[in-house]
Amino acid sequence: MAIEKDDPTFAERFLAPLMGIFLGSSFLGMIVLGACMEKHERLGVVLFCVILVAMITSLAVLHHRVLGRYQCPQCQARLPRHKDPARKRDFLFYCQKCDVVWKTGLQEGDS
Ligand SMILES: [Zn+2]
Repeated sequence: MAIEKDDPTFAERFLAPLMGIFLGSSFLGMIVLGACMEKHERLGVVLFCVILVAMITSLAVLHHRVLGRYQCPQCQARLPRHKDPARKRDFLFYCQKCDVVWKTGLQEGDS
């Protein structure tokens, strides 16, 4: 019987960059809006949209890199998503070698 463990590196691998993307883009967005508000309103809106698109793209890339190519925190093996019919929305990954089900704490729809 596999044991369940919380992935100790997940916050660092996923949540930290996630926060970075959010903070970085809102910071940039505010600078752009602040700088363009008075004279270049249109340019400000365009740049703001560009930042928004860049943010969404980086989130998708991050999501794909961390969850689509998940690595076992213990042995670094590439793990497929573990499907548990009882917990369909949970992101779980089972490592056969370590006999561990890694819990990311993330649920589908969260991000
Ligand atoms: Zn492993």
